[in-house]
Amino acid sequence: MKKDTKVIHAGQNKKRNSGIVNTPVYHASTVVFSNTAEMLDAQDRSIKKREKHLFYGRRGTPTHWTLQEAISELEGASDTFLTPSGLSACTLAIMGCVKAGDHLLVTDSVYEPTRGFCDSFLNGFGVETTYFDPLIGAGIASVMKSNTKAVFCESPGSHTFEVQDLPAIAQAAHAKGALVLVDNTWASPLYCQPLKLGCDISIQAATKYVVGHSDAMVGTIAVNDAGLPGVAKAISAVGITLAADEAYLATRGLRTLSVRLKQHHENAMKVALWLQSRPEVKRVLFPALPNDPGYALWKRDFSGATGLLGVVFKRTSAEAVTAMIDGMELFPLGFSWGGFESLIAPSNPSRSVARTARPWTEPAPGVRIHVGLEDPDDLIVDLEKGLARFNKALV
Ligand SMILES: *Cc1c(COP(=O)(O)O)cnc(C)c1O
Repeated sequence: MKKDTKVIHAGQNKKRNSGIVNTPVYHASTVVFSNTAEMLDAQDRSIKKREKHLFYGRRGTPTHWTLQEAISELEGASDTFLTPSGLSACTLAIMGCVKAGDHLLVTDSVYEPTRGFCDSFLNGFGVETTYFDPLIGAGIASVMKSNTKAVFCESPGSHTFEVQDLPAIAQAAHAKGALVLVDNTWASPLYCQPLKLGCDISIQAATKYVVGHSDAMVGTIAVNDAGLPGVAKAISAVGITLAADEAYLATRGLRTLSVRLKQHHENAMKVALWLQSRPEVKRVLFPALPNDPGYALWKRDFSGATGLLGVVFKRTSAEAVTAMIDGMELFPLGFSWGGFESLIAPSNPSRSVARTARPWTEPAPGVRIHVGLEDPDDLIVDLEKGLARFNKALV
């Protein structure tokens, strides 16, 4: 089946739900059994055999299974774990792959709170993190140590948009016995499937495009057979569970992911091309643009682009960026992109705390734009006025 068909039907189980199209929200903590044998059987099936079988609220209900099965099918995964935010999906996946004495490699383009977790929390548990050039490709072999157990990628990075050579990184990392994790939020499970490119774990801040309506926080961790045992152990030990209401909202959002993303792609392309034509703009960071350095890899490994892009100005200042942002009519200032509406935020990856392995040398601050589902012509009019304010504040 094509992915547009899969996204509609994946994980559905109308029979399990008395014919109801969407799996209802099962609010559950206690699950009761009619006798001891039934309880022991449920425990065995839920915990040991990892079957989708009711045992205890924290271990999931049919509301969760629908989302888990759908994401697994789209990502091509053995199983999917659900967490209460995208960040917790990143951190728990990492915790599932490393222990005291291990070394972790993380892309320098990583989402900043993921970097914060490694530097200010994981280090206290005896795990050393080193950052690597996102464009390293097969060269990852040269920065691996004998105790490197995991390589964490994010492609493209959500501020600098470098596309990583995931198959090359996976091959080199596997040759030295490390697992490869990917934060796949920008592409969503529809436009890139890291497990099919040889990686082991694909993470979504489903808060973004999967939920798609800016009204729920959800993380997903899709694993292959190699990634499964560690993540299962971390999730179970920490006691992580996703509220059933949020699981429901994520599944509901997922059903329209394909049509939404096509429009995000089309609108973002139109806005990106317009921005590129502007005299203030040095670069538009959007891998779907043929002159983007990541275009060839994007074309090879992705089947579409989404709505998030970066803008680098030739000359810039904090005052100019503020003047632009503060007057926008259709682009509220906000961080959690992936919903239906456009957003804008300042972006400053040149700060030394944001990059350590391959410093970002482009003029900063720039802006990061999420191109929503509005008519792109209206967005361009708003951006044009924004650039007029930018220019006025710059001189
Ligand atoms: C937003 C985001 C996250 C974190 O997701 P939350 O649901 O906000 O915790 C992780 N990775 C990337 C790339 C993101 O954009």
